[in-house]
Amino acid sequence: MQLIWLRSDLRLHDNTALAAACAKGPTLAVWLVSPTQWQRHDDAACKVDFWLRNVDELSRALATKHIPLLIRHAETWDQAADVVLDLCREHQVQAVHCNQEYGVNETRRDQAVAAALEKAGIDFHSCLDQLLFQPGSILTKSGNYFQVFSQFRKVCYERLHHGVPAIVRAPQAQQPLHIAADKVPGHVDSFPAPSAALQALWPAGEDEARRRLTHFVDQPIEDYHVERDLPARPGTSQLSAYLAAGVISPRQCLHAALSHNHGEFDSGNVGVTTWVNELLWREFYKHILVGYPQVSMHRAFRSETEALAWRHAPRELEAWQRGRTGIPIIDAAMRQLVETGWMHNRLRMVVAMFLTKNLLIDWREGERFFMRHLIDGDLAANNGGWQWSASTGTDSAPYFRIFNPHSQSERFDTHGVFLKQWLPELNGLGSKEIHNPAKAGGLFGPAGYPQPIVDLSESRARALSAFKNLPSRQVSGGQHG
Ligand SMILES: Cc1cc2nc3c(=O)[nH]c(=O)nc-3n(C[C@H](O)[C@H](O)[C@H](O)COP(=O)(O)OP(=O)(O)OC[C@H]3O[C@@H](n4cnc5c(N)ncnc54)[C@H](O)[C@@H]3O)c2cc1C
Repeated sequence: MQLIWLRSDLRLHDNTALAAACAKGPTLAVWLVSPTQWQRHDDAACKVDFWLRNVDELSRALATKHIPLLIRHAETWDQAADVVLDLCREHQVQAVHCNQEYGVNETRRDQAVAAALEKAGIDFHSCLDQLLFQPGSILTKSGNYFQVFSQFRKVCYERLHHGVPAIVRAPQAQQPLHIAADKVPGHVDSFPAPSAALQALWPAGEDEARRRLTHFVDQPIEDYHVERDLPARPGTSQLSAYLAAGVISPRQCLHAALSHNHGEFDSGNVGVTTWVNELLWREFYKHILVGYPQVSMHRAFRSETEALAWRHAPRELEAWQRGRTGIPIIDAAMRQLVETGWMHNRLRMVVAMFLTKNLLIDWREGERFFMRHLIDGDLAANNGGWQWSASTGTDSAPYFRIFNPHSQSERFDTHGVFLKQWLPELNGLGSKEIHNPAKAGGLFGPAGYPQPIVDLSESRARALSAFKNLPSRQVSGGQHG
């Protein structure tokens, strides 16, 4: 008997480890419920709910192939080895297959499971699946992990010119095993179910993920390079939650995009190449996580920034979290996050920069709050995005390039459509004053909407001086995706 241990790869199609297990013989599947571990990782309740709904869909899909999906409980990952081993003994499993996950705790867990299985004479195979390229295979000439995205991307392009990673076939139906699948829990304690409205935004299942991908590459992808910056427009794929849970694979995304661009990834349609660029940012941050594991342990990539005098300002932090800063683009974005489990990429950068520069609050506070609310929360991308915005990360924004939220708002939501959607209390304002109601001297000041909690130019100067005073400051930086 083969065991496929499913984690963040909740799909039947193009699943490397599942295909490998099924190619070996009769296969059984398992998924672990690990609430305390999830809490330690700040996994959002809406994300846990999304996992459960997708596991349920996958269980049905596996059943059509006569692969029963069992659910086991390992409160923390320290228990994973015992739980998996017990299951192997119960069903005479000869080999366990899984797809690699990255991060320090994930790696330790898998090493412990592999060691326990080896002792018991059971094979453990882990496959590359979540990424296009094996971490450690894209290195500088001196054998280090890249720290600069454009250089990393160049090597990715070279690789892709040699061949695009192939899609793996879905397994054929096997002979029934006469093992009953477990019922997938509808909820897990300590992770309250999100609203029905939030759930409706993110339907579960591979069909939905592929529908989104097909729709996106059919049309929106053509204008992605322009539309992706406009939060009021549905100009991005909205696939991040599906990619993070593995309901769709990066290979499927890449193939779909290339099929729309005559197989080209670095030339041809600009929308397509810009989107492929984003998939490579995803790749880059995961390689960073493996190459520089300190970022997975709450450390800054640039160690000199650990000396920054972050402010302890709980009231301002709370105003940011609650969407009550008095700066409409920040408040609208934060309300979008809390209500939908997702935030537009441009706004993630804007609110992150506001927190870390204008409020001079530690990026780790923002990273944690995002993780606790994002349905697409992903350690590598979230940490990468936060450290980019805070200028503490690899290839991050130069510390002196601080976005002005009012200008960002005027530029990317010119008519205030996004603002009005999330801040109905500003509905009465015109498209000029809505970006900065306080500037209108209270004339337009809507009742109930707060005054700005911070002066943008003074706080900008405060941030510049905090960064300038750092020892051995580095000022280089790159353009983010
Ligand atoms: C502060 C901050 C925090 C972030 N936290 C996360 C997170 O927890 N999880 C997450 O998936 N993304 C995160 N991102 C990246 C990005 O904002 C989201 O991936 C994107 O908004 C998801 O929407 P989409 O699926 O429509 O993306 P699209 O624009 O359609 O992009 C396609 C896919 O590429 C990947 N991608 C796009 N941009 C990036 C990027 N800058 N870095 C890494 N991968 C990217 C995602 O998997 C995304 O689904 C963060 C960015 C910032 C600035």
